[in-house]
Amino acid sequence: MLNFSESPKEECGVIGIFAPNEDVARMTFFGLYALQHRGQEAAGMAVADGHVMTMHKGIGLVSQVFTPNTTAELKGHYAIGHTRYSTTGSSSLRNAQPFMIETIHGPLALAHNGNLVNSAELRQELMEQGVGFSSSSDTEVMTMMLARNGGVTWEERIKTAMKKWIGAYSLVILTHDCVYAVRDPWGFRPLCIGMLPSGGHVVASEMGALQTLGCEAIRDVKPGEVVSLSNNALKVMQAIKPEQPSAMCVFEHIYFARPDQTWDGINVHHVRQRLGEELAREVESGLQKRIADGEADKRMGKGFADVVIPVPDSSVPAAIGFSRVTGIPYNDGFIKNRYVGRTFIEPTDSLRKRGVALKFNVINENVRDKRVVMIDDSIVRGNTTGPLIKLLKNAGAKEVHVAITCPPIAHPCFMGVDMGRHEDLIAHNRTVEEIREHVGADSLYYLSVEGMMKAVRRKDGFCQACFTGQYPIPVDLMSVKTGFERGTK
Ligand code: SF4
Repeated sequence: MLNFSESPKEECGVIGIFAPNEDVARMTFFGLYALQHRGQEAAGMAVADGHVMTMHKGIGLVSQVFTPNTTAELKGHYAIGHTRYSTTGSSSLRNAQPFMIETIHGPLALAHNGNLVNSAELRQELMEQGVGFSSSSDTEVMTMMLARNGGVTWEERIKTAMKKWIGAYSLVILTHDCVYAVRDPWGFRPLCIGMLPSGGHVVASEMGALQTLGCEAIRDVKPGEVVSLSNNALKVMQAIKPEQPSAMCVFEHIYFARPDQTWDGINVHHVRQRLGEELAREVESGLQKRIADGEADKRMGKGFADVVIPVPDSSVPAAIGFSRVTGIPYNDGFIKNRYVGRTFIEPTDSLRKRGVALKFNVINENVRDKRVVMIDDSIVRGNTTGPLIKLLKNAGAKEVHVAITCPPIAHPCFMGVDMGRHEDLIAHNRTVEEIREHVGADSLYYLSVEGMMKAVRRKDGFCQACFTGQYPIPVDLMSVKTGFERGTK
């Protein structure tokens, strides 16, 4: 499978629905469509009717996995669904979610957004007790733990498991007569609740999925909570104490979430605009200092560029904010082909050489003979920024300055985002000047951690570990994404 992007990979979207007298499979299908941006490798759903549970999952986009026939066979009024990008575990079908098993207490299915940092130990413990596994996914470990835990109710079994799970988990769990929504005590990944006009309830990774289904948003599932959806009622249990401070993933705001997402009362689109504004202030004051110190040419002062262009789509609001503060006009420079992102058809060698040019076309007239500031949300491995700069220069841009709406990513994520290992990250052990040289920009600016948090309008409560290396939970720095397959965990 071809991946044209070097961006950090989205880490999965989950949805859970209880809707009596509705076609929940079809509703889940449309909810998953709204979460497609969070995972494009596999999709699946499990549906229960109070007695029987059925499931369908496959490799590919939601529209490739489900047909009218497959959804018609999934009958019931309880459902969970998942869009997947692999974090723990490889991207094969056996790792697609939900995971469904038959237990002594009835059927059980589970779908997970996040990553347990202690899944290798938990898996080993289970194997020593004779449990076999059919996949390398930490979600299967969680499913098996739930099936084996003692307790009279599923709430009790979930609570017992939560005491042993360390890491990021926003989960939806399906039994024959209930949907549970579960969030880890650090609150790494989002999970929000909405009410259907018909009186049922929906939980989803993002508000966009709730809106698609016509829900009225109620609130977030809070860190450490288990919320049950059944019989037209929401039951909330604080299963374990929330960690203080929380560790919500700040990267959801910078890159992952859709701009219509509001998380913990903060709208993503607004944060992105403020990221651009803060970045503009830092670039301007940095330039003034460099000019005063004689390190930069006076001509680079106010109005150091002729046009601000975003790398679509997530950088558009930030570019608008950057333009607003600097007074440099905003314009579109790239047109993105949204359908090329991930395809099963391998390009020919000559097409492969075109790299990012297969995904982005430049509007030559908007950049020719201009000094361009290109706004992007992040640089991870550094494979895309250089080719984008080249595209602009080939189109006649005189200078290309690059401004990034987050600090340098110098540390891997262990909480569910695939950024690669230390050695894969361009900012690991490199200065900004070395990165600038590598990508071929005329100048390169990153937003500071302080500027990023000003834009989020919170001082703490967010994980920033990929920028600072300060992990909110103990992590094994040697562990890798496909640790189980490679035998390194
Ligand atoms: S390390 Fe970065 S991507 Fe991972 S949870 Fe923390 S902020 Fe998010």
